[in-house]
Amino acid sequence: MTSYDDLLAFDRDHLWHPYSSMTAPSPVQQVLSARGVRLRLQRDSGPVEVVDAMSSWWCAIHGYAVPELDAAVVDQLGRMSHVMFGGLTHEPAVQLGRRLVDLAPAGLDKVFLADSGSVSVEVAMKMAWQAHARDGIGRTKFFTVRGGYHGDTFSPMSVTDPDGGMHSLYAGFLPEHVFADRPPATGEPLEEWKSATQALFEQHADDVAAVILEPLLQGAGGMHAYDPEAVRFLATLAREHGALVIFDEIATGFWRTGTAWAADACGVTPDVLCVGKALTGGYVTLAAVLTTAEVAAAVDASPAGAMMHGPTFMANPLACAVAVASLDLLAATDQAANIARINAALDEGLAPARDLGSVADVRTLGAVGVVELGTPVDVRRVTEAALARGVWVRPFRNLVYSMPPYVTSEEDLRTITTAIVEAVEEVHG
Ligand SMILES: *Cc1c(COP(=O)(O)O)cnc(C)c1O
Repeated sequence: MTSYDDLLAFDRDHLWHPYSSMTAPSPVQQVLSARGVRLRLQRDSGPVEVVDAMSSWWCAIHGYAVPELDAAVVDQLGRMSHVMFGGLTHEPAVQLGRRLVDLAPAGLDKVFLADSGSVSVEVAMKMAWQAHARDGIGRTKFFTVRGGYHGDTFSPMSVTDPDGGMHSLYAGFLPEHVFADRPPATGEPLEEWKSATQALFEQHADDVAAVILEPLLQGAGGMHAYDPEAVRFLATLAREHGALVIFDEIATGFWRTGTAWAADACGVTPDVLCVGKALTGGYVTLAAVLTTAEVAAAVDASPAGAMMHGPTFMANPLACAVAVASLDLLAATDQAANIARINAALDEGLAPARDLGSVADVRTLGAVGVVELGTPVDVRRVTEAALARGVWVRPFRNLVYSMPPYVTSEEDLRTITTAIVEAVEEVHG
């Protein structure tokens, strides 16, 4: 075993963390283990247990060391951990495919299993490209709204918010797509945004292969909730002009915003749906792209004659088996009621933050609770202040938020919201 000091020293000198500097890294916490909704951390003072307010970037919806999920992995491990998916198939992939087709909006019954959210967005964009390549014209643009986040590989980055830093950094390398303004926040008037968006769309209509969106809630782009009517408007624009509709539900899927899919709340069935993050209950990376028979046929009618993507670890059996177990667990509870329970607790617990001078907005949607400051968060100090109150949060930009596991009790939700409000007050006033 590496000593605590050696472990942190090696980590600091050799390991990149997400969006981190190798030369001036931010502090990291060592996790010893995780169980239920608690992470056991090694701190300078010794081991401590904290409540996880993040679901490990929104994945661990059932918490950690979940007996049913552990059992699914162990059981599958006894058969095989991996086989190639080229020319072979297996029970976990077929079971997962069935469950996804059953849960997805009707008509989305063709499934491509990918290794991560970003890769699923790559695949969705390639599908849209190929589907239009059939008529020999080709449509080279994607249409989206500002403020979105679709992943870190190049194609997803090219439709992620252009003002978020990545675009200027990679200018000249990223393809240029078409960005409408971010839709107004829920409850604000839409008319002006609609007419500007329509005018912009019409300028590019013949070139647009697809509209790509995070329906209802933009996640990593700023936890921005917007009106279902804006989603319907964009989908209608796309269809009037022969473009496909891609929903990136990697963050919003599996009940996070209160319905199985944000698409359900919008009353729109997309042509292509990307899912990831919570798909395996946070156990291991896996994502999926679902589409219709019509799009699949259009893809096959392209010059390639097939969908041109095939990851080495496509449909990894361990990942599929744990995803099946996770979807079974989700189905065993009335999630509409459960998410409403979490929403009520986040709403009530975060409300006092409205009285803080540093706070610009407090909002909740489903199992998402957000405190938005007027200035960037002092991430290091707010993280420490929350840890001191027994809670793990990971703020970004001007946001301190929670996306707790769905199994979090009222008492633990109270611990989370109290820690967030008090940490913000202590550090930012
Ligand atoms: C996290 C996320 C992605 C990227 O998924 P990775 O698994 O990190 O590649 C894409 N789109 C949305 C909406 C996300 O929240």
